Amino acid sequence: PAEQAMPDPSKKTLVILGTGWGSVSLLKKLDTENYNVVVVSPRNYFLFTPLLPSCTTGAIEHRSIMEPIRNFLRHKKVAVKYYEAEATKVDYEKKVIYVNDESEVKGEISSTEVPFDMLVVGVGAENATFGIPGVREHACFLKEVGDAQKIRNRIMDCCETAIFKDQSPDEVKRLLHMVVVGGGPTGVEFAGELQDFFQDDLKKWIPDITDSFHVTLVEALPNVLPMFSKQLIDYTEKTFKEETITIRTKTMVKNVTDKYIEAESTGPDGRKVVEKIPYGLLVWATGNAVRPLVKDLMSQIPAQKDSRRGLAVNEYLVVKGTENIWAVGDCAIANYAPTAQVASQEGAFLARLFNQMAKTEEVETELKALSEKQEKAPNGEARNAVLNEIKELQKRLRRVKTIGPFEYSHQGSLAYIGSEKAVADISWLTGNLATGGSLTYLFWRSAYLSMCFSTRNRVLVCVDWVKAKMFGRDVSRV
Ligand code: FAD
Ligand code: NAD
Repeated sequence: PAEQAMPDPSKKTLVILGTGWGSVSLLKKLDTENYNVVVVSPRNYFLFTPLLPSCTTGAIEHRSIMEPIRNFLRHKKVAVKYYEAEATKVDYEKKVIYVNDESEVKGEISSTEVPFDMLVVGVGAENATFGIPGVREHACFLKEVGDAQKIRNRIMDCCETAIFKDQSPDEVKRLLHMVVVGGGPTGVEFAGELQDFFQDDLKKWIPDITDSFHVTLVEALPNVLPMFSKQLIDYTEKTFKEETITIRTKTMVKNVTDKYIEAESTGPDGRKVVEKIPYGLLVWATGNAVRPLVKDLMSQIPAQKDSRRGLAVNEYLVVKGTENIWAVGDCAIANYAPTAQVASQEGAFLARLFNQMAKTEEVETELKALSEKQEKAPNGEARNAVLNEIKELQKRLRRVKTIGPFEYSHQGSLAYIGSEKAVADISWLTGNLATGGSLTYLFWRSAYLSMCFSTRNRVLVCVDWVKAKMFGRDVSRV
């Protein structure tokens, strides 16, 4: 069991913000003996986001992809302090973080300060809305567990309300129109999962909705999944057509009301048309925006003044313009896409870096002590012995100090597109492989299963898949 004594004044205090892909991958590999480690995050669990779209339909239960942070922190060699709180401000000059307990139950103290010597910012990003009116009020996002639960309930609410006695045909059509905005992987995977839900279960359990249930994906660019190869984009669009999901490309949503969206599209003659598209459920998946905490930190550091999309970091993930702040994941800008793959590699790199830094300090202290011993040692053999020891230590120091900069190794992109099909752009030793179809789907399933956080998660996800196959997804609304 981890020791409880904290903080140790002889050690530096390392504060880690967030419990997402970046921070947790750092914590997994960090040798906690070397620092007083403090974790601050409003979420006391890690979330395996790649399977979140499956939670919106009940194909997977959300708790199967959550891993309590306490569960793995207790296995660390030396105790890590965890505070369930939101960091509201980082004071860069004072080296202090202000934190707030935003949960329902509050004690006498619900906001306080946490000092740091070293800080890792891994707070991720928030949902981009581009200031489009009505989005925050009326749309559902798909980033956190609560979002997936809300969508799951909304889908069922739309279905049950659509078949309410005496509903008009137009209203039935509207309620059963499921609109997804954003043709990135989040939007595509959700649209695929939703159509599966309809095909496999909803239509059997509530036959009355069969003729009117419809999924539409709206994308501003000329095609969906811009990060995939042309061949896979075509394959996805073809598969969606077969699944009867409508894709509306070159269509930019400009306004959202409680019952319809207003979208501007470019017709074949190049003229712009604005139309109203009624919806029952609206899911908004148009990518990331910078969190206010990060924006505020950027404003305190002159070297960040030209940075717009997040904290600019150097090749060691140090926030430019600082010496003791690092950033990982979606809040860091290091010329990589904001993905879990990047965030987890960055976190693992920082763990190695911090472990090495601690070793370096240890060797340097030993060296200093030896140099003093050498000065005091009488000439002759004793002095030579100390000199040899010093040489050995210097060699060790050089070895320890050589840690190269962060290098991202791209393992490929994978996305589920519905009807038991997936697309994958994978880099093999021999080159790139672009593949789509049912085999890729099996690959997708096994890859994501193996990437799950723990064996517990893996077992739970497998059980959910079997349950959904045997009994159908659970359509109760809670
Ligand atoms: P996050 O994982 O978002 O974690 C941020 C953490 O910071 C959270 O714990 C949060 O509670 C905490 N936090 C927030 N505000 C504060 C605050 N003020 N103070 C303290 N803590 C705070 N990527 C892939 O590579 N492959 C995929 O298949 C994939 N699928 C995805 C599916 C979905 C539905 C989504 C939404 C994303 C997907 N991604 C995928 C992207 C991936 O999830 C992100 O890139 C990744 O989560 C980024 O990791 P992060 O650590 O930066 O942030
Ligand atoms: P994204 O940024 O990848 O895509 C958002 C899409 O929304 C863009 O194509 C954009 O053109 C479109 N859009 C923006 N404003 C619009 C508007 N007003 N009207 C219509 N369309 C509009 O966002 P995402 O899908 O949420 O993904 C975020 C990050 O997470 C990405 O880096 C992605 O790679 C990663 N992710 C990866 C996976 C995977 O690998 N399977 C799954 C989900 C997310």
